[in-house]
Amino acid sequence: MRFDGFTGNTRLQRRLCDIEENGRMPHAFIFEGADEKARHALALLLAQWAVCTAPGDKPCGVCAACVKAKKAGHPDVFSAQGGAGSRSFHVDVIRTIREDAYILPNEAQRKVYLLEGADTMTEQAQNALLKILEEPPAYVLFILTCVSSAGLLPTVRSRAQIFTLEPSALPEADTAQKQVEELTGLLAAAVAAPHEYELLAVSGKLIKDKDRLRAVLQRLALVFRDACVCSAGSGGETTGQVKQLCERFTAGRLLSMLEATQQAQRMLEQNANQTLLVTWLCAKLRMK
Ligand SMILES: [Zn+2]
Repeated sequence: MRFDGFTGNTRLQRRLCDIEENGRMPHAFIFEGADEKARHALALLLAQWAVCTAPGDKPCGVCAACVKAKKAGHPDVFSAQGGAGSRSFHVDVIRTIREDAYILPNEAQRKVYLLEGADTMTEQAQNALLKILEEPPAYVLFILTCVSSAGLLPTVRSRAQIFTLEPSALPEADTAQKQVEELTGLLAAAVAAPHEYELLAVSGKLIKDKDRLRAVLQRLALVFRDACVCSAGSGGETTGQVKQLCERFTAGRLLSMLEATQQAQRMLEQNANQTLLVTWLCAKLRMK
């Protein structure tokens, strides 16, 4: 798979390439992350990949299908999104898509449904989507983008593969990204520290800014996931942080820390009180 014009997110790119090479492309993807432009760019690349007619590496970006998909003019690439409100993505749109999905593609091998801002789907819309996610026609590909997949129903999440984008690499986002990296590092270190106050000191910096908390939780979930993988002995490169966690905790503990972090992500999207949420997570992370 090619990622022309899409920078950063090397780990995510590698994961997508691996899946493609092994012929295990899922029928539903979720791209989550705060950077809307990057989410959109990646979703568009995947849509192009699905319809590209070039013989080699896809998407070629230059065949008629790629060009049409990029200009939102491909008859087999459908795009929909919610409005500004938190529950503005309505069920009617999904119902239309559901009917359409059973009609064979017009000219490509696949039919792509790009659902942007999927976390603004109403529960009814998500349940309607679920019906087709459970047993989609073989040629159908769903691409959902959202700030955080924690805002989606667990049943929807479980039927898609989730890819977390890194915070934006744009210069103005540098400081914010550094803060997120730093806080995540401090948190991961505090989890393994002998005293509780290290963790409490870091957690105090997390409760004020929801966007930052969301980014830190996403990052932390990735760190714990890597530690789980490392603990299972399935190679790959690891950072010092991951290695430390891996040496300090059992696989079971790492998994429960990952689950607690994911639970916290869901609580955040359900507008839980941030102070209580952070306190809850710290307690879970310190639990023996
Ligand atoms: Zn192409």
